[in-house]
Amino acid sequence: MAGKVELVRLPMPKQEPRERVRNFDEVALGYTAELARDEASRCLGCKKPACVAGCPVGVDIPGFVGCVAAGDFAAGIRKVKETNALPAVCGRVCPQEEQCESGCLLGKKGDPVAIGRLERFVADWEAEEGAGEAPPLPPFNRLRVAVVGSGPAGITVAADLALLGYEVTMFEALHEAGGVLTYGIPEFRLPKAIVRREVQYVRSLSVDLRLDFVVGKTRTIDRLQEDFDAVFVGAGAGLPWFLDIPGENLNGVYSANEYLTRCNLMSGFRFPAFDTPLKRSARVAVFGGGNVAMDSARTALRLGADEVHIVYRRSHDELPARAEEVENAEEEGVIFDFLTLPVRLIGDDRGWLTRLECRRMELGEPDASGRRRPVEVMNSEFMMDMNASVCAIGNSPNPLIPMTTPGLEVGKRGNIVVDDESGRTSRDRVWAGGDVVTGAATVISAMGAGRKVARSIHEALTEA
Ligand code: FAD
Repeated sequence: MAGKVELVRLPMPKQEPRERVRNFDEVALGYTAELARDEASRCLGCKKPACVAGCPVGVDIPGFVGCVAAGDFAAGIRKVKETNALPAVCGRVCPQEEQCESGCLLGKKGDPVAIGRLERFVADWEAEEGAGEAPPLPPFNRLRVAVVGSGPAGITVAADLALLGYEVTMFEALHEAGGVLTYGIPEFRLPKAIVRREVQYVRSLSVDLRLDFVVGKTRTIDRLQEDFDAVFVGAGAGLPWFLDIPGENLNGVYSANEYLTRCNLMSGFRFPAFDTPLKRSARVAVFGGGNVAMDSARTALRLGADEVHIVYRRSHDELPARAEEVENAEEEGVIFDFLTLPVRLIGDDRGWLTRLECRRMELGEPDASGRRRPVEVMNSEFMMDMNASVCAIGNSPNPLIPMTTPGLEVGKRGNIVVDDESGRTSRDRVWAGGDVVTGAATVISAMGAGRKVARSIHEALTEA
């Protein structure tokens, strides 16, 4: 590229914090075509692009960014879709700062190219133009694959195999497809219309979707194997962890899973138009420091809380949430109580949460995760008045499928054990990938696992 390169990336317009805490509309508004072209023009077009190596699904980033810079948005989205079936989702929620953007050469002297924002732009441009067409499908190869779970892992396996000519059926326990993208990540960060659009794209590849179908209950894996040549398990990690402290059975005490599902999937924020209410609580404490905690805290604000606290046992530097989401939460007025550990939840005589007892923490030596270990400070207990708490400290896979599938090996936390390269499980013709294998992780890592498994299933079934 000729001429001087801007070292600072172009900001993306956002709703003002004071305005956005009163609605569930998307916070980030996206680049205009002009902003997108200008931002894309910052790309140096490296010969050996480190950004591609940082993308778990290997999107041709310089290729698509070059198309945007040239104003050929249709070619840009085509390039992205060669390897990514969920571009509007990934452009919004991927931790690009740790992946593709972390390798960008421009990042050494200034800001890396805003790859995620550009990916989002081309996906949204296509949706607005109505130009999204399913690619031509090869004839059916007479091989049938069952995909359990319709989150990012399942969607990727289904799309990749459908494009190779397989007859794919996706089984989903809930009444709507999309996994965490639908029931977990809130509307203000990932509008559900976008997830539905992306699911629709996969269905346009002739993938059959069966909703309200709980594998392990409605039908077991053994029974599915009678009808399908291969089974992929992408059932996610939907079993919430609790702190295991006194008082967790009080009213007003939620897991993040329940809180967000009530809001996102059951439209609790639109009560009484929808019939799943979410009680308005004046003071809400959210336990944890990841994306799930940020989403829960920002949801509580939008549901009308006067004060929302993130109660986290480490410090700001150790927060696992994306920096952008922490900044959004701070701008919206979420209060961060660092180095604080809840030890007891206290209720009134009607069983409703009224107070938390907490203990101060300090940071010790680094632990196995490389982060400094939080250590309790003796006799440092104090009280916080709260009407609701949301526990967002992690999730494990639901045990239903392992319990009903003899011979399926699971690890200590209930995650399905697979061969790293292929995603094969201990059961013949059964593969697994995504959060059900790794524990709670990221959308793009689930998609990367799905891609690998699709290749492995294809090899296994065509070589058989
Ligand atoms: P899931 O998305 O969990 O999908 C699994 C699906 O399987 C679900 O629909 C479930 O209902 C279905 N299922 C389960 N059991 C059965 C069964 N027995 N039969 C049939 N169907 C079944 N990641 C990011 O990259 N960026 C973010 O910003 C981000 N934010 C997040 C915010 C929240 C609130 C949460 C909860 C997670 C977030 N994540 C984020 C993590 C990311 O969403 C997950 O890592 C990803 O969705 C995992 O994909 P998956 O396909 O493995 O599982």
